[in-house]
Amino acid sequence: MNKNSYKSMLEAIQAFHDKHDFKNNGGEDLAYRVALMAEELGEISACVTKGKSKKDLAEESADLLILLMGTAISADFDLNEAFWQKLEKINQRKSKIVNGKIRVSEFRGVEK
Ligand SMILES: [Mg+2]
Repeated sequence: MNKNSYKSMLEAIQAFHDKHDFKNNGGEDLAYRVALMAEELGEISACVTKGKSKKDLAEESADLLILLMGTAISADFDLNEAFWQKLEKINQRKSKIVNGKIRVSEFRGVEK
């Protein structure tokens, strides 16, 4: 197993879904998964706002990544392909400093 490969990560997450039979027990329901991802995002936020360790931040980020990749399995889309397509699109965008922080966006409906 190559731990740096998206394919290996996805296979490990598929094995986790299979182990607990997510498919037949609501574990692959999209609305449920979105709620779980929001929960994990809140835990990442708490790491920042409560000044938790980098180890805690890494663990909560991994929770979110595992859920996100599992959502790609549940909703049957190719997240790896979507990632590269989106990154290519983002790389075409301009950046702008907004309230002191850089933002890369299409800036639709915003005055130049
Ligand atoms: Mg967590």
